[in-house]
Amino acid sequence: MNGPVIVSSLENLPPSLAASVTPEEKAYLGTLGSGGRLPFSVTSHFASLAEPSGEDPVRRQFFPDPREEERTPWELDDPLGEACHRAAPRLIHQYRDRALLKTTGICAGYCRYCFRRVWMGTREGFIREDELKPVLEYLSAHPEIREILVSGGDPLTAGDKQLGGLFGELRRARPGILLRICSRIPVVLPSRITSELIALFREWRPLRMVVHLNHPRELAPQILSVFAALIDAGIPVHVQTVLLKGINDSPELLAELFRECADLGLTPYYLFQGDLAPGTAHFRVPLEAGLAIYRHLRKLVSGLALPVYAVDLPGGGGKIPLHDRSIAGERRTPRGPEYLLRGPDGSLWSYPKET
Ligand code: SF4
Repeated sequence: MNGPVIVSSLENLPPSLAASVTPEEKAYLGTLGSGGRLPFSVTSHFASLAEPSGEDPVRRQFFPDPREEERTPWELDDPLGEACHRAAPRLIHQYRDRALLKTTGICAGYCRYCFRRVWMGTREGFIREDELKPVLEYLSAHPEIREILVSGGDPLTAGDKQLGGLFGELRRARPGILLRICSRIPVVLPSRITSELIALFREWRPLRMVVHLNHPRELAPQILSVFAALIDAGIPVHVQTVLLKGINDSPELLAELFRECADLGLTPYYLFQGDLAPGTAHFRVPLEAGLAIYRHLRKLVSGLALPVYAVDLPGGGGKIPLHDRSIAGERRTPRGPEYLLRGPDGSLWSYPKET
């Protein structure tokens, strides 16, 4: 495709997609530069996978929707409660043996359901030396941390030199620490996964990739060769998927996605229940419907192709696998009906019954 690699205005969208934009969408798009809102940006590759319909499952993932302005009483700026576990300004230490580093607030394209959409709206750039220093000090002082999630935003928006420098610093602070690279770039910008980047990954093993992938249509031919190259280089690739209403909330479609992933040598890892990020209710599948989808999915795929269905308990309770026994009870509140979910330590956490 000719034109810019990253599209952030209507004029640069493929003409048929631009023609499908409604006046309401266009008006909403015009507001995104202000108020810390999640920007509009999509790679030309990902846009080329979309059909010109407001219901298209690829288009809906990246095209701004005026419903993002609607906020439910359950939604939180920090839905995972990361602030409760902040060990340094960019470092989250919630689980004993692993920590998460927010390397950047930039992505190649912005997913409209993003759980860190408020942080992404700050458009923080790649971690600076003065921000990295306390992270390294913390890692040095906490030998129980065996794994670092190199996350963001999307860390692969940084250049190879920046990434190599970061990996080196992390390993100097904690020799042997496992690097887990969390990225959507292999799917939205496959040309970024160059042989040089793969060589860098090889150099810094042990290193694993966790790739965010939601729909079988995202498995375009360019992406298949990227995954093959990563696997040939000895880089394990895991897949995380967000359960999204009207996009992938069908057991058959998810079965197709996870079977294809397994056939490619990727490991389906997590299927996430939607987080309570502001303005994302139109993407969330009600919990009860999600459980029914997962029950059906289990019958359709082998264990090798079955991810864990999980939710991050809103407000900082941590990640729990979801199954019928996860629901400890339900109650009516002034906000509406909600479920009580049991956290890893037995404590109870609320999650809305509807969306
Ligand atoms: S790639 Fe991840 S961090 Fe970036 S917008 Fe999408 S969900 Fe958010």
